[in-house]
Amino acid sequence: MFSLVRIWQEFLNIVREESGSPLVETWFKAVELKKWDTIEKIAYLQAPNAFVQEWIINHYMHLFIRHLGRLLNESSLSIKFVQENNVPLPMANSLSPLRPAQLYEAPAGRKISPQKVAKIYPNPRDPLNNNYLFENFIVGPSNELAYAAAYAITENPGKLYNPLFIYGGSGLGKTHLLHAIGNTIKQKIKKVRIVYQSADRFIQEFINAIRFNRIYQFETKYKDVDILLVDDIQFISHKEQTQEAFFHIFNTLYQSQKQIVVSSDSMPKDIVGLADRMRSRLDGGLIADIQPPSLETRIAILKKKAENHQISLSDTIAHTIACAAYLNIRELEGALIRIIAFTTLTHQEITIDLVKKILTQAPPEHKKNFDLPLIAQHISRHFSYSLEELRSSNRNKKLTLARHIAMYFMKKHTECSLREIGTFFARRDHSTVIHAFEKIEAAKKKDKSLCEKLSRLEEEMQF
Ligand code: ADP
Ligand code: MG
Repeated sequence: MFSLVRIWQEFLNIVREESGSPLVETWFKAVELKKWDTIEKIAYLQAPNAFVQEWIINHYMHLFIRHLGRLLNESSLSIKFVQENNVPLPMANSLSPLRPAQLYEAPAGRKISPQKVAKIYPNPRDPLNNNYLFENFIVGPSNELAYAAAYAITENPGKLYNPLFIYGGSGLGKTHLLHAIGNTIKQKIKKVRIVYQSADRFIQEFINAIRFNRIYQFETKYKDVDILLVDDIQFISHKEQTQEAFFHIFNTLYQSQKQIVVSSDSMPKDIVGLADRMRSRLDGGLIADIQPPSLETRIAILKKKAENHQISLSDTIAHTIACAAYLNIRELEGALIRIIAFTTLTHQEITIDLVKKILTQAPPEHKKNFDLPLIAQHISRHFSYSLEELRSSNRNKKLTLARHIAMYFMKKHTECSLREIGTFFARRDHSTVIHAFEKIEAAKKKDKSLCEKLSRLEEEMQF
């Protein structure tokens, strides 16, 4: 089914992949793709307030033209911002001296040449992000083990903890640490060969290598390195062939004492669909976790990040922001950037009242409180299945219904991407999640008792 929600989700995935999550969290998450006029070739978007709208128009229009255009299969689309029922946007009235942009139209048919695009974007394959360093990683009780281990291996790569396995929730600094390791070693050792790769891209590369008969080049690229940094290894679950390839690369590097660092959203034992031998390899080094940061750490992070923008935050203001954005560091950064951007743009001082106003107008993040395992556990218990059964590929009818309900709640009540939800369940890609969601939505309309059951479950889980 042609679904705008799905296209928008895909657009966010691409931007996240290319420009990083903070950008998506800060600006795009609360924007909706309302309508696609195939005849006029206009995509209608709705922003939560005039400020976000203006900022996007001024800074990120090229992303729409480029990626949304491709997703909608239209190289010369226009973008228009609309408001709900033509009600003036709240920020335009109460906060912002910006012109209340009622309807913005990107230059119709504006095309960006490939050369220009290449200039705008850093090479996504450039392996290391220079901004992710140990120096700007704030250490607190929640991440000190991971930090210390990461730092230690840069002093003695391959010898100390091999592999180093860092795991923790989204936005807590795993990618930052992986890059910091790479950047530091690069400075210390001349001509060191470092490869950073997300498991996602690794899979893609592997598939292409098979398709184009380039397995030898693929293996050489990875076996010929001194430091291998693999991010988000959980995405390799249930990809047997890729795991096999990774297993061989791993062994080769390990045997010659090359450093391997892997990050994941969970411990090796909790990654479903990982071959036992791969699991035991990953288990064999040091496993370090990163937990959500405490209030003190969040305040320290905020102050440091503000300093980087030559802004000093008072204790009260830092405290207020840290209390409002508590789930992870990405969210914290997003809140700070919104505040800085807004106050700079409107030439205002950062005051506590202004901060409160900006934060309350931020997109609601509370959805993230509910994580996938929590929902899965509740649903499996309710239907008297084990968690393993719920996540398995068993298609027993009652089990399938339970699984669909779990996916439905996950899509509805978490901010996890469809792919994350799919990965949580064995072998299921994002289209399965959409299918489950649509199925339950449709069934709800016909089946009153299902409707009641869902409401009861929602109450129990206190969504
Ligand atoms: P993950 O890979 O765990 O999802 P990231 O490494 O992408 O998280 O971190 C999200 C954002 O938060 C990044 O911009 C990163 O620089 C920042 N960040 C995470 N942890 C810290 C920290 N301890 N100190 C400073 N910035 C951090
Ligand atoms: Mg990451």
